[in-house]
Order: sequence, then structure tokens, then C-alpha cells
Amino acid sequence: MKKHNFSAGPCILPQSVLQKSAEAVLNFNNSGLSLIEISHRSKDFVEVMDNARNLALEHLGLQNKGYHALYLQGGASLEFLMVAYNLLEKKAAYLNTGTWSDKAIKEAKLLGEVVEVATSKSDNFNFVPKNYSIPEDADYFHCTSNNTIFGTQIRTFPETKIPMICDMSSDIFSRQLDFSKFSLIYAGAQKNMGPAGTTLVVVKEDILGKVSRAIPSMLNYKVHIDKESMFNTPAVFSVYVSLLTLEWLKDLGGISAIEKVNNQKAELLYNEIDRNPLFEGFVANIEDRSKMNATFNLNNDELKATFDDHLKQAGINGLNGHRSVGGYRASMYNALPLESVQVLVDVMQAVEKGA
Ligand SMILES: *Cc1c(COP(=O)(O)O)cnc(C)c1O
Repeated sequence: MKKHNFSAGPCILPQSVLQKSAEAVLNFNNSGLSLIEISHRSKDFVEVMDNARNLALEHLGLQNKGYHALYLQGGASLEFLMVAYNLLEKKAAYLNTGTWSDKAIKEAKLLGEVVEVATSKSDNFNFVPKNYSIPEDADYFHCTSNNTIFGTQIRTFPETKIPMICDMSSDIFSRQLDFSKFSLIYAGAQKNMGPAGTTLVVVKEDILGKVSRAIPSMLNYKVHIDKESMFNTPAVFSVYVSLLTLEWLKDLGGISAIEKVNNQKAELLYNEIDRNPLFEGFVANIEDRSKMNATFNLNNDELKATFDDHLKQAGINGLNGHRSVGGYRASMYNALPLESVQVLVDVMQAVEKGA
């Protein structure tokens, strides 16, 4: 039976990408060898890495603008530390919109002063703070574009003269933005571009080389840039599958095309959450709702078993909320078809009618 995969991460990938990845594991480019048993320095793999780096920049409109794309390891979680290691001399400004921002702040504090410009922590992160001011004497400003756990998303990014750094793990390549406003973007692959194991880092070279500390090689963006993301053995499989996903996105028409579908999916689900008296959205301000991760509760606890049973029968997977929030969370990443959201909405209506 067809599954509708709403998992928050690792999450759904396009079927065609899974198919091609499976083939490459057995026989890569008709070489008679597996993708994962050849040298990462082989011509075939170097080409994969180069294409994956170039295509990421192309999608973001950042080619020939002083940016480099890297595929690193250690997850977005290591970037929390690497960003500070490479950029934090004295003081950095952070917007705290959720668990992931909180963790990024914790790592940065190991290396310098952190100014939290605003936070929604006391309201369980159910909105995105606005109208805060960013100190211009900070080394950089850091924010999280999409709050995967609580289901909020930054719609409008602040204007600032200092470098803007963004954790885009859960909404990269999902919507069109002026990506040149950011000096560094990072994203764990497993939310919207590939399997776990690699992290995309897009960094503008001119922000580097300004801190006085010695940076260990593996944590040094400059080292990875100079080595074209091959300082050590990259996560070859994750990079390859990410490339296939980026190619899939290009064939669809790129970010602007997928954004239209993402908007349709979000509208369909949120309309039902708002209309159906059995459900209630978690996020306080409608304009802050994430189009990637929709968080909601069932108002009537007695119907939980019925709802869960309907979900199971419809083949819906991964709808439970994060353990720290509870309720439900529908993650609607790029590869999730509109049809899957319609199946979920049908289930919500069926439970309403039965109630
Ligand atoms: C999942 C997630 C992370 C953590 O990513 P890892 O690759 O597990 O380290 C960080 N930030 C955001 C916004 C996320 O969604």
C-alpha cells in the first residue's frame, strides 16, 4: 500500500531519486562498481561533488557572487559550533526561535559573548519575534529560518549591515528568497535534500579569516573551500543522493516551481485545521506558520485512538508531534506530493463526520 510520508526528518525523498540511488549502489554509471566502493578521488565521484556544489549555488542564485558550497559532516549541529569558531571574535547576535536556535546559542557561548536579540521561549516558541534590533558591533547575526519542531517560519528577514547567518535545515530549496542577503547558510541534508550524513554549507568567502583564534582543520571553512569539499572523505552516498534531489528539483522548474506546490499543500492543510472544529493549530500568529512543518492538536482526546487508526488505515506515516511539543506535526517537504496532503485532509474530515 502506498504510504504518505509526513516524517519530520529524515524524511520523504522523490521516488525517482530513491530508484536512481539504489541503482548507483549496485552499478554506478555502468562502471560495474558501486558508488560506495569507489575512491572519492575518482573522476566519477569528483564530478558528483562538483555538480552538487554548483547546482546548490545555481538553485540559490549565488553563482559567481563570492560564495562556495560545501558538503560537510557532523550535521547542522556541528555547524552551530563551526559558525562560531570561524566568525565569532568577541560578540554575536542570535534570534532565538526554538530548540535549534537554543542549541546554536549554547555552542556559540563556548567561544564568545552572545546577545539574544529576541526570543519566544516563554511562549513555548509558538510565534516568531519581530521588531528587535541587531547590535551593529556584533560579528554576525544568526537566525533559524524554519522552526522544525514548533512549526514556525520566518517570513521576512531583518535588514542588517553585519553578516547574516541562517540555519535553513528544514526549509532550504522550498521557497524563493534573496539568498544573497545571507553570508552563510547551512542545512542538514536530511530535511529537504537528501539522506542524513552530509550538511550543505554555503559561505561567502569574504567573511572568513577575521578571527584571531587557531581553527582546527576540520572545523575551518577555509580549509574545506581550498580542498573543494574533499579535505577528507566526504559522505559519498549522501552527497550523491543530494545531487539527484537537486537535479529532480531543477527538472521540476527549480525553487519557484516547487514553492507554488508547497504553498498549495500548506493552504490545503491549514484551511482544514482552521475549518475543522476537531483541530487547532499550535502556532499563535497565522503569518508565522511554517509551510514545511504544520503543528496542530486534536481538541478531543477521546478521538485520538480513532484519528490514529484512520491515519494508519490511510497509510499516513510520521504525523506525531515532536516529543517536546506533543500533538501532531505534518512535515510537507518538497518531495511530499499534494495528493498526500489531500489524503490527510480526507482523514480529518472523516473523523469529524464520524464524531
Ligand atoms: C534537524 C535540524 C537540526 C539538526 O540537524 P542535525 O543534522 O541532526 O545536526 C538543526 N537545525 C534545524 C532547523 C533542524 O531542523
